Amino acid sequence: MAHPAHLWWNGKQVAWDDATIHISEVGWSTVGGVFEGIRAYWNDEQQELYVFRLREHLERLARSMKLVRLPLAFSVEDLTSAIVDLLRANETREDSYIFPMGFTANSYAHRYDLPEQSASLVIHTKPMPSHLGKDVAYKGRIASWRRISEDVMPPRVKNLSNYRNGQLARMEAAADGYDTSLLLNQQGKVAEAPGACVMLVRDGKLITPDLTSSVLESITRDALLVIARDLGIPVEERPVDRTEFYVGDEAFLCGTAAEVTPVVELDHYPIGDGKIGPITRKLQAAYEAALRGTNGTYPDWRTPVGVAALATR
Ligand code: PMP
Repeated sequence: MAHPAHLWWNGKQVAWDDATIHISEVGWSTVGGVFEGIRAYWNDEQQELYVFRLREHLERLARSMKLVRLPLAFSVEDLTSAIVDLLRANETREDSYIFPMGFTANSYAHRYDLPEQSASLVIHTKPMPSHLGKDVAYKGRIASWRRISEDVMPPRVKNLSNYRNGQLARMEAAADGYDTSLLLNQQGKVAEAPGACVMLVRDGKLITPDLTSSVLESITRDALLVIARDLGIPVEERPVDRTEFYVGDEAFLCGTAAEVTPVVELDHYPIGDGKIGPITRKLQAAYEAALRGTNGTYPDWRTPVGVAALATR
């Protein structure tokens, strides 16, 4: 896969091929590492790239770093400029994924002795086309793996080690011929899918596990709850049973990578009529407009990169 010309590392733009690290760092450096997954969307008409909810993602990065006790040497403002400048330097004109990652520097010397640890922060990007509007629909199962819980690992932040849990569930789903799975939490309630939160529509209401259900503090989840309320759709955040999905009308995954991905079948129960539902479609359309800035809604959620200005230089 072609890669951008530059990435950002500890305060500087670095040529992609020069951003190397010693092999002795492989292993423990990311066990306590954290990351963000951010997307930028191209608006062809405006010839502009918009980063979605950049501030909220960077604030979550700061919370993640705090929780794993990695020192963060940059402010949200510093990192905002770093990302905007990087996208401009790479002349990014396509839907893209932005991946900031904080990890333990010098893990060759330090493993458990964390208070002295120093962090390294890298930000790189890659093309990631949207699947909104393509009628992607998933069939899922309930995972045999439980979602990590607060008394074991911190589910609300993006610690890289947390992701082994979702990987196991995703591999299990794929091996059994499903597209995804839902992980239950230690209370036996639905938590989320590998790498995405989950929502359900029942009797016109939008229902999603609350933030103490062992879910990531998802920015897409938050955006969709705001959008739903603005569309007059009643919203419930509360513990959710798996059987509510079996008898529900609509369901979908949501997340930066997942966007809004309908789930039309769970454990061989069709959800509703087994087709993408009307509220899901409505939310997909409103979410896509907010991401790309096609109808002016939610301007505070978009950071323009200024790619249009580059073209006229
Ligand atoms: N849960 C997990 C475990 C995730 O990795 C993600 C993707 N970041 C989500 C939920 C959705 O979060 P967000 O909407 O912030 O991307």
